Amino acid sequence: MTRPGRRILFLGPPGAGKGTQASMLARALGVPHVSTGDMLRAAVAADTELGRRAAAIMARGDLVPDELVVSLVRERLDEPDAVCGYLLDGFPRNVAQAEALDEAVGDDAIEVVILLEVPEGELVARLLRRAAEQGRVDDNEETIRNRLRVYRRETEPLVAHYGNRVVSVDGVGTIDEVFARIVLALARTR
Ligand code: AMP
Repeated sequence: MTRPGRRILFLGPPGAGKGTQASMLARALGVPHVSTGDMLRAAVAADTELGRRAAAIMARGDLVPDELVVSLVRERLDEPDAVCGYLLDGFPRNVAQAEALDEAVGDDAIEVVILLEVPEGELVARLLRRAAEQGRVDDNEETIRNRLRVYRRETEPLVAHYGNRVVSVDGVGTIDEVFARIVLALARTR
């Protein structure tokens, strides 16, 4: 099998399963899983300056200011473990962040963009289930609707930004079924 791309980006609406799939794939490829959502939640939990600035914004389901997440990601990608690649999950979230990433790592650095697709009704059901299981403050129905709106408005235009590097994967099914589709899709990109 040909070697899959090692600078990979996960795109998809909230609830599509990006976090789960990205962490499985990162482990399989031996590259760090860089999730801005996880990093921001850790900052909130640790009550850092960044966490204090981000908490209320995250609870509403809005986007944290670009300059905060861009510097977070820049610092993370400068760590030695990101030299051989990385898997970005939840970043970039809008065109300005994508342009900042292009500037930081180069226009062609991202090899593959995996777009995880799940119908809207299923997304809401999944997020409400996660709310009951994990108690995330941004998993209540009103915030979920807002996060989906923000995704459509801010993040979906990135599909055009990345053009033919985007590979769509059906995100409906069991975790293992979806993972198998992702691995197959990556293999076909080379
Ligand atoms: P996620 O875990 O990726 O769904 O992110 C949870 C929340 O963290 C989002 O609803 C935003 O409030 C914030 N967030 C995560 N990544 C970003 C980003 N790249 N830009 C701005 N806000 C972000």
